[in-house]
Amino acid sequence: MTSRKVPVLIVGAGPVGLALAGDLGWRGVPCCLIEKTDGAIYQPKMDMVGVRTMEFCRRWGIAGWVENSPYPRDYPQDNVWLESLTGYEFGRERMVSKSEEPCPPQSPQKRERCPQDMFDPILRRFAGQFSEVESRYRTELIDLDESGSGVVATLRDLATGEEYKLAADYLVGTDGAASIVREKIGIPMRGEPVLTFTTNVIFRCRDLPSLHDKGKAYRFIFIGREGTWLTIVAIDGAERWRMSIIGDKSKREIPEEEIRALIVRAMGKPFDFEIESIMPWVRRELVAESYGTERVFLAGDACHLMSPTGGFGMNTGIADAIDLSWKLEAAVKGWGGAELLRSYGIERKPVAERAVKEASGNLGRMLAARKKGPPEIAFQPGPEGDAARKEYGDWYTETMRREWYSTGIHLGFSYYHSPVVYPDNTPAPPDEVSDYVQTGRPGHRAPHAWLKDGRSTLDLFGRGFVLLCFKPGDSIAKSFAAAARARSFPLQIVDLCDEANVRNAYGADYALVRPDGHVAWRGDGQPDSVGHVIDVVRGFSPARSEVRSAEADHSVIAEHAITAGSAH
Ligand SMILES: Cc1cc2nc3c(=O)[nH]c(=O)nc-3n(C[C@H](O)[C@H](O)[C@H](O)COP(=O)(O)OP(=O)(O)OC[C@H]3O[C@@H](n4cnc5c(N)ncnc54)[C@H](O)[C@@H]3O)c2cc1C
Repeated sequence: MTSRKVPVLIVGAGPVGLALAGDLGWRGVPCCLIEKTDGAIYQPKMDMVGVRTMEFCRRWGIAGWVENSPYPRDYPQDNVWLESLTGYEFGRERMVSKSEEPCPPQSPQKRERCPQDMFDPILRRFAGQFSEVESRYRTELIDLDESGSGVVATLRDLATGEEYKLAADYLVGTDGAASIVREKIGIPMRGEPVLTFTTNVIFRCRDLPSLHDKGKAYRFIFIGREGTWLTIVAIDGAERWRMSIIGDKSKREIPEEEIRALIVRAMGKPFDFEIESIMPWVRRELVAESYGTERVFLAGDACHLMSPTGGFGMNTGIADAIDLSWKLEAAVKGWGGAELLRSYGIERKPVAERAVKEASGNLGRMLAARKKGPPEIAFQPGPEGDAARKEYGDWYTETMRREWYSTGIHLGFSYYHSPVVYPDNTPAPPDEVSDYVQTGRPGHRAPHAWLKDGRSTLDLFGRGFVLLCFKPGDSIAKSFAAAARARSFPLQIVDLCDEANVRNAYGADYALVRPDGHVAWRGDGQPDSVGHVIDVVRGFSPARSEVRSAEADHSVIAEHAITAGSAH
């Protein structure tokens, strides 16, 4: 079979590949998405859709699809630490259901609970709306050959066994942990290849909440005399439960009989349940040495693997896709320069390194009970036991809190150091985990603020660049418009002169926001050369050395230990 050349070939239709295909389709960029499976999900992995991902869903008009997924919105989201479901409870972090949780002040959206077997079909439906997106399931990439003018992929149709070639201008490997794309372009992963050998077990039991006295909760963390040994999460808030036998660095296959015994131990008494699937997996802490070549890029688990503790993996991957998508559009449509695609890895790799580190820290905190297990008295009845349980539980609750409130990880990363961001030599804000102070500093996510007409500022962004003008007088807007026109650079000018609150959030009279919703440039007056600003942010020339102090900024970031900040 021969085929025409496609602008972008995406390998792997997990959540990251689907999000990339959908975003490219939304931008009118033709792409082909291939997936070796039929797309069915037997073991949902992710279930937490982070606040930034929800902002992207809002942009795409599908936030309501996520909010209205079958996951029950009245299901309490408590995290509970306990001996067993019918044994002693040490403590809990009470967390309201999704319908009760308010949006954080920094966003018009909030994180949602939507497990992968509900979320992937939403992304698939979104991507399927666009005639630009061609999906080929049961199609596997087996080889690729990159040249200066493009990539030729060798694909196998798994229904017929036929092999054929497909040429593309660009190829993106969203093919997960065992990425063949990464292997073919020879990029190694760096970090810790094994944190734990863990076994996930999905079991069914509709009556589970009525069999114990701990009430409905999202996650139960089981702590025995040996410390933390198991977690159970409510996958669909109804009848499917995922048990993770956490394990350690030693590889071990756990027989089904032992798994059954562990489920009974977690309940504290025999009960009826049905094991649906068993999946051993390795928890890793790895980031790819680089994020691609000139024409082949990696996104999602293909370039970063982290402990699920914190729910950062897919969310980091979808933000990769958002960073890459508009740069591919710019390359395909001809208004982006060479620096733009090169900036992808420069911007995204530090974000993954930050999330990977935080995820491992969360794992360490969860397993802290292995080093400091409850005293024996905490497993005994009576007031002394109650007091010991409370003391231990309070300590563990405090230890774990950082994992439950991580707005800073989801929103607080910055591309200030990027060659396609125009620095303004303002100091970096503190890098916090549990809080995020919005800033209009170049490289950061453009702040959310409510406009007088009820929209969020975020509703202004997405397609091309947007110049926000907070100062009356149109000479600067005219200069930008003329320079943009001369370069076929997609720019929309938005007059926000009567929005003083919004101006405060952006900290300047003018802010130029990229299609991914990050600030590219800000200033109080006309820059020396508007054309140069546009050429920098569209990747045709790196930011001037006299205004760039990226090295200095980097050391500022490095100096800030990431702090947990105040929970909200
Ligand atoms: C227990 C658990 C809980 C988690 N919870 C969360 C969470 O709450 N929030 C969160 O953000 N993250 C979470 N994660 C991480 C998250 O699931 C992953 O980061 C995410 O699935 C990665 O998406 P991806 O699209 O990059 O890769 P994958 O989901 O692995 O998808 C890759 C796709 O590529 C296909 N493929 C592979 N090779 C080829 C080939 N040669 N040709 C064609 N197709 C190919 C595969 O079949 C697969 O469909 C969790 C992970 C685990 C293990």
